[in-house]
Amino acid sequence: NQRWVLNHRPTAAVGPGDLTLQSTEVPDLREGELLVRNIYLSLDPTNRLWMSDREQYLPPVGVGDLMRGGTIGVVEQSRSPRFAPGDLVIPGNSGWQLYTVSHESSTGRVRTTQGVPLSAYLSVLGATGLTAYFGLLDICQPKPGETLVVSAAAGAVGSVVGQIAKIKGARVVGIAGGEAKCRWLVDDLGFDAAIDYKNEDVGEALDRHCPDGIDMNFENVGGPIMDAVFSRLRRNGRMALCGLITGYNSDGPLAGPSDFGRILMQRLTVRGFIVIDYMARAREAMADLGQWVADGKLRWKDHIVDGLENAPAALDRLFTGNHDGKLMVAISDL
Ligand code: NDP
Repeated sequence: NQRWVLNHRPTAAVGPGDLTLQSTEVPDLREGELLVRNIYLSLDPTNRLWMSDREQYLPPVGVGDLMRGGTIGVVEQSRSPRFAPGDLVIPGNSGWQLYTVSHESSTGRVRTTQGVPLSAYLSVLGATGLTAYFGLLDICQPKPGETLVVSAAAGAVGSVVGQIAKIKGARVVGIAGGEAKCRWLVDDLGFDAAIDYKNEDVGEALDRHCPDGIDMNFENVGGPIMDAVFSRLRRNGRMALCGLITGYNSDGPLAGPSDFGRILMQRLTVRGFIVIDYMARAREAMADLGQWVADGKLRWKDHIVDGLENAPAALDRLFTGNHDGKLMVAISDL
């Protein structure tokens, strides 16, 4: 097997030497287990959190342990009556590795639809889609005519959030880095406006695009961008706190908005959420997401980097924005 292990905890952006690529034997299968050859590895901002020992929603990856990560793969050997070689699956307890031994009880079957690429089941029809769906619909609860602002809007989660909000009749303003990403949001995805935070004053642009204030904030970023949105949330506004990527590459607390009192004065609802808490309701979301994809109402991009050996270097793209769509690594061929 080939696998990346955490060598030591990074203190800034992940760099060479923070992880080590090891070659190991694949263990023999026990009853109920499957050998899965991974095809795609999902790279997520949260991978950087797992490398740190800050307080978080899962145990940190241990130093010397396999780097945790979501994969999709094909069963090569099976000692389970429930899975056969050739089945496409999402193995449990997977990681940055070529082969995963997965128990049948923690393995998810992937039912592909013709015309939808396999990578989509790690993005728009995977955890990314679920994050967007439940964060927006459960927490922001968009109503027709309301205004939503989503940050990291051209990213994997953000781009799906904005499109679902449009389907629900909301006005959508996205914040993204660079002209090309902003153009994609408005011209191709139907956002009402996009703000290029790398070249525009976000506060000024928000005043222009949301003169009556903001009803909903789907927050992916944190820092000054979040502050600019938060300080314009209007009465009974809702914030779905999905991520705070600006803080992931450093230690220490992830800072909140400067005007905490606004929650009181404007009767805001601010709720953080983690997608794994919604897994029991995945079917509900998948029915809608699958239909919207089939109807062409929901579009997405996957950014696929070739080769497991390139995973650590590729991860940094999430922090520089140097990727176009859901970032993943192609580990082996379908
Ligand atoms: P994306 O595809 O959105 O990639 C991350 C994007 O974040 C980059 O493309 C970049 O966009 C933007 N970004 C990075 N650093 C900064 C910065 N300093 N200032 C402004 N923007 C920045 O990744 P995901 O869709 O996978 O994740 C988006 C967010 O959602 C993350 O915060 C992640 O942790 C969170 N998340 C939370 C989940 C949950 O269960 N709560 C589940 C999945 C994701 P640009 O090019 O526009 O700068």
